[in-house]
Order: sequence, then structure tokens, then C-alpha cells
Amino acid sequence: MDPRHLDVVSFARDAIGLKGEGNLADWPRLAEEQFGSALSPGLLLWQMQGRMVPQPGGTDEIWLDLKASVRLPMQCQRCLTPVLEVVAAERSFRFVADEATAAALDDEAEDDILAISRDFDALALIEDELILSLPLVPLHEICPETVPMSAVDPGFDAASERPNPFGILAGLKTGLPK
Ligand SMILES: [Zn+2]
Repeated sequence: MDPRHLDVVSFARDAIGLKGEGNLADWPRLAEEQFGSALSPGLLLWQMQGRMVPQPGGTDEIWLDLKASVRLPMQCQRCLTPVLEVVAAERSFRFVADEATAAALDDEAEDDILAISRDFDALALIEDELILSLPLVPLHEICPETVPMSAVDPGFDAASERPNPFGILAGLKTGLPK
């Protein structure tokens, strides 16, 4: 079975599991998020599992479980040098008859709903999920070298000169009658 052209129904019915790894370059939208070339990205590892969930008195539900991760060089927002962030995603999707049903259910159900396809690009879905899982503010746990904060954040100096609101509150409190 080709994960780029998955027959979703037989994938789930036969409870097929697939896994693989690839170079970040094979996922161009995700690769755009790479910062610089000083650090190399790791291999993108993925796995997926199809399953049917029997429904009493109804049609069995079709599910696909996804898991993927990659180490991606991004720009640390503190020191502005590259940081290798682990981007990981894990999510399950339920497949329904068609787009209209998926759209209707997606509003009310908590599950992630997609429309059944005989030619489903599961690797594109993995790419979507990893993009959604990117850290909003990439940061080193400990930055490689000390940089003056003012060089990173021009607002920092101004912010530190502003009176601390809690300090003012404390001042007011002491002035209050007991
Ligand atoms: Zn840093």
C-alpha cells in the first residue's frame, strides 16, 4: 500500500499498519519552516494504523491513527540562532462517506472527520499535522551564548523602565488604612 495513494476503506478493514521515514525535503511545505543550514534536520519518522470500530446496530466506523515526528532547525526567538526543535504529532481521524457528511459532522463531533477516499494522500496529512504542531515560539532550553537582551528585543529596555504595576499596588496597599 502506497501512503500517498491510500484506499482508506481497505486500509482500515484489513487493519493495516504502515511506517516509514524520509528526508524533510520530501515534505516541501514543512521544509519551508527550516531555518538556515547550520543545523541539519533529522529524518521524518511516521507511522499510521487503520482500524474499524464496530458500532452496535450501525455501520462500522473507519479510523486512521497517525504519528509522526521530525527534528527541525528553527530560529530561536531569544538568541536568533538555529535551534533543533522536535516537532511531533499524534492524531486519529474518522472517515465518513463524503465531504458533505464530513463537513456537517466536523462542526458537532469532537473527532477529526475526513471524507473516505480510494486515493488518499496520508503523507500530506502527516505534513499538515506537523505544520500544526510547530512550536509558536522556538527557543533553546539554554541558549548557546549570552546575548544582550536589548539586541534581541528592542522593546525590552522600554519595558524594564516602565514602573512595575505590582510595585505600585504594593505602594497603594501600605497607604491604605487598616
Ligand atoms: Zn537561543
